[in-house]
Amino acid sequence: MNEQQSPEAVTLPDLVDFFVNTPPGKELHISINYREPHWDAQAQAHMGKVAVSDLTLHCGSPACGSDRQFAPTHATLGVELKTQTETRQDRFFVFVCRNCRLFSKTYAVEIRMTKDDEAVVFKYGEDPPFGPPLPSRLLKLAEDQRDLLLKGRRCENQGLGIAAFAYYRRVVEEQKNRILDEILRVSRTLGAPEELLSELEAAKQERRFTQAIDGIKHGLPQALLTNGHNPLALLHNALSEGLHGGSDDECLELATSIRYVLSDLVERLSHALKNDADLNKAVSKLLQVRQK
Ligand SMILES: [Zn+2]
Repeated sequence: MNEQQSPEAVTLPDLVDFFVNTPPGKELHISINYREPHWDAQAQAHMGKVAVSDLTLHCGSPACGSDRQFAPTHATLGVELKTQTETRQDRFFVFVCRNCRLFSKTYAVEIRMTKDDEAVVFKYGEDPPFGPPLPSRLLKLAEDQRDLLLKGRRCENQGLGIAAFAYYRRVVEEQKNRILDEILRVSRTLGAPEELLSELEAAKQERRFTQAIDGIKHGLPQALLTNGHNPLALLHNALSEGLHGGSDDECLELATSIRYVLSDLVERLSHALKNDADLNKAVSKLLQVRQK
């Protein structure tokens, strides 16, 4: 134990990894470096503060929107633990984004001391939920199905394949027309053939996503293809495959594919129009130069 250590100087690599990379429901054996060890007469126990270092986490605030350094709050830096063996304590650890100071991450853990300086840490949960975030554009597209999308992501993070697949399928089914509307809007702007536009319009009248996609025979504009493939056809394949009752692992793979294809599609929908506008601007600029 070393009272001279400043909070910033102390790192617990295992605990950092546990906070950032371990889903809830798991535990970890750690050794603890105490700061300011002392005898607490009221608790009738030796107490010490746990040293917690910065974490690199995704910041969801509009000002940041990507990975940032999160600093432990004063209370988290000062989390006190009994240094006696055989004690069990529930604790919150809170970290705040160093950049915007608006976004925070909270972990709820149980700490079971096994020796004076060794413990088992169990993660009850965290808020926002564990795992890399879903793209904000995808959350926006999901609209009122946003919660189901997030639950799907949580299940996927924890390897619950059938559940993740079911949540994602529901989102795609419920937001079928929103997805088609977005594709229609972009396709129109990019000057797609009239046949495709009327097939997309007709697809909106179908009840189920798979039936809707069956009726689209013309290819989507190049800018919307995922690695050269039609994303609607890829989603169609994944959804019809999963409905035939694969194993949990197979459903997990399908769920992950659905998330990837959807994420890619929303990015492409957004960039296609931007690139088109940029291109138009560049072309008209060059035409002006020629006219001079
Ligand atoms: Zn931030």
